[in-house]
Amino acid sequence: MEEAKVGVFLSNCGKQLSEILDFKALTEHVKKVSGVALVVQGNEFWRGEGLKTIVDAIKSKKINRLVVAETLPKLSEIAIVKAAEEAGLNPYLVEVIDLKDHCAWPHRDTPSEATEKAKAMLSAAIERAKLLEPLEKLEFPAVKSVLVIGGGIAGMQAAEDLADLGFEVHLIEKAPFLGGLAARAGRFFPTDDCAICIQSPASDVKAITHTSRKCVYRSGFSEIPNLNILTNSKVVKVEGVPGNYKVTIEKKPRYVDESKCVRCDLCTTVCPVEVPDEYNAKLKTRKAIYINTPPVHPPVYVIDESACKFQECAKCVEICPTKAVKLNQKTEKLTLNVGGIIVATGFKEYDPSVIKEYHYGEYPNVITNLELARMIDGFGPTNGAIIKPSDRKPAKRIVFIQCVGSRDRRWNPWCSSICCMISLKNAMLIKSAYPDTDITICYIDIRTTGREHEYYYEKAREMGIKFVKGRPTEISHDPDGNILIVDVEDAILRRFFELEADLVVLATAMVPSEDTKELAEMLGIELDQDGFFKEYNAKLRPTETKIRGVYLCGGATFPKDAPTSSLHAHSAAVKAAKFLSTGKIIKDQRTAFVNEEYCGDCEFCPVICPFNAITLVPKGEDHFVAQVSDLKCEGCGICVGTCPVNAIELRHSRPKQMEAQMNALLSVNGTSKPLILAITCSECGHTAVDSSGMAMMQYPANVRVMKVPCTGILQVHQFLQAFKAGAQGVMVVGCKTDGCHYEVGSQKAQKKVDLAKVLLKEYGIEPERLEMLHMVFIEGDKFAEAAQMMTERIEKLGPLQLM
Ligand code: SF4
Ligand code: SF4
Repeated sequence: MEEAKVGVFLSNCGKQLSEILDFKALTEHVKKVSGVALVVQGNEFWRGEGLKTIVDAIKSKKINRLVVAETLPKLSEIAIVKAAEEAGLNPYLVEVIDLKDHCAWPHRDTPSEATEKAKAMLSAAIERAKLLEPLEKLEFPAVKSVLVIGGGIAGMQAAEDLADLGFEVHLIEKAPFLGGLAARAGRFFPTDDCAICIQSPASDVKAITHTSRKCVYRSGFSEIPNLNILTNSKVVKVEGVPGNYKVTIEKKPRYVDESKCVRCDLCTTVCPVEVPDEYNAKLKTRKAIYINTPPVHPPVYVIDESACKFQECAKCVEICPTKAVKLNQKTEKLTLNVGGIIVATGFKEYDPSVIKEYHYGEYPNVITNLELARMIDGFGPTNGAIIKPSDRKPAKRIVFIQCVGSRDRRWNPWCSSICCMISLKNAMLIKSAYPDTDITICYIDIRTTGREHEYYYEKAREMGIKFVKGRPTEISHDPDGNILIVDVEDAILRRFFELEADLVVLATAMVPSEDTKELAEMLGIELDQDGFFKEYNAKLRPTETKIRGVYLCGGATFPKDAPTSSLHAHSAAVKAAKFLSTGKIIKDQRTAFVNEEYCGDCEFCPVICPFNAITLVPKGEDHFVAQVSDLKCEGCGICVGTCPVNAIELRHSRPKQMEAQMNALLSVNGTSKPLILAITCSECGHTAVDSSGMAMMQYPANVRVMKVPCTGILQVHQFLQAFKAGAQGVMVVGCKTDGCHYEVGSQKAQKKVDLAKVLLKEYGIEPERLEMLHMVFIEGDKFAEAAQMMTERIEKLGPLQLM
């Protein structure tokens, strides 16, 4: 590595800092640090004349490392790095520190101690800068094509958005028809309009007006030129990297040629097989060859292979006028090359038959909300008539039971969030069509949190729908009169009573779709505690996953209503478009790398990496070594903190860089109080220190802060190293364990801190000298308090006695 010539630029921040810090002393101190070629004092080095000074120094003084003490380093760094790069310096050789919020403001009452701390901070920055290596920006190709998994409303919306933006889109749906749950729901709250009504795509030039909403089968959706729709298809394998995935799709045979079927319906007239129609809640039968009504997409028949007699019968083959029926079709496997993947697999109704007291599946007149929706639908099995499935007579008394299988720790603890509104919708649709129907809704709480939803509830009450606050304990059947009896305790009136009903409708929990777990494993993304896909950050990145290029929308993350599903679909589409729009992915090289000589293929790091960035690759005969994907690596360093033989390092946070920084921070004392090293993660930990400074909170200047990418990078021996370097106490400050930016880093650090405490005890050192704290950005007060508390604790313990 070339000899370091460090240029140090000290901003006094409009003279604010020079009232606290002795800049003359700082300049003298810096001049004496080896490798420093230039020290300049000034104001605002991130713009105007200040920035020009830096550029001139790089050009004329051949400065090859920069240390700039400037305020708001996150912002000023952008301008400084850009200018340095334009002046010919590698942009990764710049170190920006904050003497204001990290030193002058919090220690303004002890200016001489603040100046000593500033000296330590500058020394640490210089030592770190000297060891920085020039890095390159990495560029990876990105295929401008997206796979959308799931053909419900969210998947269709995301596919349409991306196709309209010019991307090649593959939309796959495992069922024979698009539409998902929406197609069966008939209508949506709170507008009560058709569930399968969608916007017309922008590519449908004739239809595109502000008012262009159409049924999906009339909207031109299926005719978008760059949209490839594959039904009866599922993902079976995902390989590759973000921007360049190879996805294997298994397409089950339809046994009907999509390009030839003209929907003449002759095939169903000759098909001899009749089976219960699952799509229509088994309220009618269908043939082995069938189509859903209304047809969503494709408008083509399909053969149910579990029911068809195939060559034994083949009557449909004979009668088909276009020779569309192909009984010898086989499952096909196809591979798609896509840059991004959107998961829109939705949710499904929980099977309430496990809840024995409600006798679903045993009493035919106990049905679910989705089954009721098929009855309400004019296209449905009863053409809109509300009947008792047992005898098909009109249902005049209907009881809805809310929270069936949800908000109940026996089954599913979560609130499915939309079932109250679904029941209100179904109840009101029935009441509008059949005003004499007696309807009661038994509920725990009616949750109407969306826009206009409370008015919807009010309207239901005005229409005469009755509400009983109580979860029914049992449904029984009285064969005389074919009546259901619902036992319920009214929690408001505090009395038990029985409700007689012709039909009981269960508002069941909404649970993850089948194959959710399998798909998550293939994609390398996580599920939450309830089994839904887990987003990267519920607040900031609700449609992203921890894997770049893989996005989520609709009910895949949680049950959602249609407007929210649409919003998430738009968001996922924008995220995917943004990721792939340039056809390349530019990435930082501050990634991990493996020293193959030391790697003992223990497999710890491939398992621990939250981003699946490490694989074991063969090296010689029966030996494997870890290999890091620069594209997938997010630079957390958790692998570094895990490797038992120190075979992995993180560029720019290598052990020798961290050690040099630590030694320098503890090399200048200048305080009567015991030196404490606070090792913070670069996310919440470090920003909590920022925020305490910004709020001018005070804490003692003996607390020296060292930033690491994530506390997960730390190894037990580094805590001991800190004590050896002169720290009397060590604070590790990371994100909350359930809010770590790198998922598990904070948890891992806590475990190592706990282990180090045990070791300290063994060595005769008080374990209280080491502490881990978890905080978020705004908890600057918590940091300041902890720094004060730790100082007092160490003062009480007295000087550290190292053996
Ligand atoms: S630094 Fe983090 S993201 Fe990169 S390989 Fe290591 S554990 Fe994975
Ligand atoms: S943890 Fe270390 S030794 Fe184990 S596989 Fe990874 S690099 Fe190799």
